[in-house]
Amino acid sequence: MPLAIDSNRLSREIDELAAISDAEPPAVTRIVFTPPDLKARAWLRARCEEAGLSVRVDPIGNTFARWNGSEPDAPVVGTGSHIDAIPNAGKYDGVVGVLGGLEAIRALQRQGFRPRNSIELLVLTSEEPTRFGIGCIGSRMLSGGLSADAARKLKDADGASVDEVRGRAGMSGELEQVRLARGYYKAWVELHIEQGPLLERDRVSLGIVTRIAAPASARITIEGAGGHAGGVVMPDRRDALCAASELILAVESAARTTGSIDSVATVGMCDVFPGAVNSIPSRVRLSLDVRDTDLARRDGVMQAIERAAKEIAAKRNVSITTELLNADAPAECDAAVVEALARAVEKHRFAAHRMISRAYHDSLFISRIAPVAMLFIPCRNGYSHRPDEYASPDDIARGTLVLAETLASLSA
Ligand SMILES: [Zn+2]
Repeated sequence: MPLAIDSNRLSREIDELAAISDAEPPAVTRIVFTPPDLKARAWLRARCEEAGLSVRVDPIGNTFARWNGSEPDAPVVGTGSHIDAIPNAGKYDGVVGVLGGLEAIRALQRQGFRPRNSIELLVLTSEEPTRFGIGCIGSRMLSGGLSADAARKLKDADGASVDEVRGRAGMSGELEQVRLARGYYKAWVELHIEQGPLLERDRVSLGIVTRIAAPASARITIEGAGGHAGGVVMPDRRDALCAASELILAVESAARTTGSIDSVATVGMCDVFPGAVNSIPSRVRLSLDVRDTDLARRDGVMQAIERAAKEIAAKRNVSITTELLNADAPAECDAAVVEALARAVEKHRFAAHRMISRAYHDSLFISRIAPVAMLFIPCRNGYSHRPDEYASPDDIARGTLVLAETLASLSA
């Protein structure tokens, strides 16, 4: 039997999963450990069990669906992604990698393939940071990037801790057990929509990811002096928002002047206090997100921003403090896994680009304990994290076929 993807079923399942949501269709909202997330997990578990996979859920809710190989003790070949979705998202982010991964396994089963290494579909908890303010909780914990103690300190907006929330969701066991041993995986491959416009623009249907960029993020607080918008004359002002404005432009310039297109920096949030038309801003909070594929270059951008902050603070007589929230290292994909993907693409005479992932994914963290690579498919206009996110059934089927072929070669 040739290897074939059941594209109709896959599309139908993507729609079924999208319907398990807190938002009106076509929008999808599925925040970790809320009722739709739990219902989606149960739905997915049933699909995995129908396919004869044995399902294990770890204490943080990472779900492993395993197809046993002929050498069940040999390292595992893993694939998967996430099914949680930010508010008002679309139906493909994460889901393509999960349901595509499941369909890849079913296609191999239909073909009569017998894996030597076990193949595991992994559905990771809370890739999105919506609930606990930090993304990729499941994959960070698997790879030791987030300790059990640090995870226990996380709280949601209602003040509920990870332990309370996961307990209510029915997850049990100690968080210390989540971490996987290095060597657990022989290889890991994640199928994902590109979340950018490059593949579509170049009319190429597949992207083989060779590096994953990583963010550093910080909270910046600028304290000046408030006062009456009429009463305080300009030479006496210490306007925090004016200082913030200069700093925002310095952030842009720091990323623009590295000489690499891969350096990006964004201020996406700006809270102004007290926020009245006739009051001078006394305090401003900014969010800062800096990403790059090269760790030294990204840290260089952070340092340039820090220097600019010092200069602006001195010049404008305000105080600027920066609190670093996280600084993950970028990842290099594994050459052997990248080559396995490339051979699968060639076998089916598809076209593929080698590219970097500008968004980060669970694979970034899994790369700390496993040889990883990612496979991208195009999404319309590069749109993601919005209800009109779209990937065509043909592109999804092509990605799933290449994934299946790659899982086969890695587990043979
Ligand atoms: Zn995703």
